[in-house]
Amino acid sequence: MAVLDAFDLTGKVVVVTGGNTGLGEAFARALSEAGASVAIAARTRDRSEEVAKDITSSGVTAIAVTLDVTNRKSVERMLGEVTERLGPVDVLVNNAGVCYHRPAAEVPENEWMDVFDVNVHGLWNCAQVVGRQMIETGGGAIVNIGSISAQIVNRPQWQPAYNASKAAVHQLTKSLAAEWAPHNVRVNALAPGYVKTAMAPVDEPRFRRHWIEDAPMQRYATPEELGPSMVYLASDASSFMTGSVLVVDGGYTLW
Ligand code: NDP
Repeated sequence: MAVLDAFDLTGKVVVVTGGNTGLGEAFARALSEAGASVAIAARTRDRSEEVAKDITSSGVTAIAVTLDVTNRKSVERMLGEVTERLGPVDVLVNNAGVCYHRPAAEVPENEWMDVFDVNVHGLWNCAQVVGRQMIETGGGAIVNIGSISAQIVNRPQWQPAYNASKAAVHQLTKSLAAEWAPHNVRVNALAPGYVKTAMAPVDEPRFRRHWIEDAPMQRYATPEELGPSMVYLASDASSFMTGSVLVVDGGYTLW
């Protein structure tokens, strides 16, 4: 196989949770450019439709599917709809996530629960429901979106629930990878550093010192910069890789 052919996703069916904005949208666009049919799966239907329509205008298939990852029935409905409209899922990108900034002593129960419901239980719901189908159909690839927050404690803002949730994502990635390797299901994580999205207001002056100047590369990333790493993890280009966490952070975690 020619080396660039290993990145080709033609004929593959991909689901991107939270694919209607930010990093998820960039992942959906990158995967579709590599040839995949993409399902944009999130709660805000209008935004998902807009992204799907725009991707479709470039000549590949993209659909919008309503999904709340915290609701098991919603996840099952999403899989049923994607399978019916596009076929069985080859690649699942578990990207949906939430974060709140608050000191630990002030975190209300509902915020703690929300972060774990979306980032951990939601990811688990999707991985288990779609993973079962992958096992039945003979294999697939799952890419979980972790974070440098699984490895460091971000400053100056506090976000204890988020940091703990992303550590859980990295370890769950390894557990699933070990269990499902015999089923030809690869499970890896992508751990971004600071990326300009609604979740990470990288332009705010109060964050500049710790988020930007502390990083060896002295800058944040755009969501599009993470697209090629996603294509790598989703495709045969990473065929011998499972249970790994790919850190893409401009060197942030070096110090
Ligand atoms: P955004 O806040 O821009 O987007 C979050 C996405 O998640 C939206 O598409 C949202 O869609 C979706 N979502 C939230 N809750 C649910 C739910 N219950 N069910 C389905 N979808 C949901 O975040 P980013 O693009 O910044 O982050 C994407 C991922 O990358 C997250 O996992 C985040 O933790 C991770 N990350 C981000 C970094 C950054 O610097 N931006 C750094 C490291 C990791 P909707 O509201 O329509 O459901």
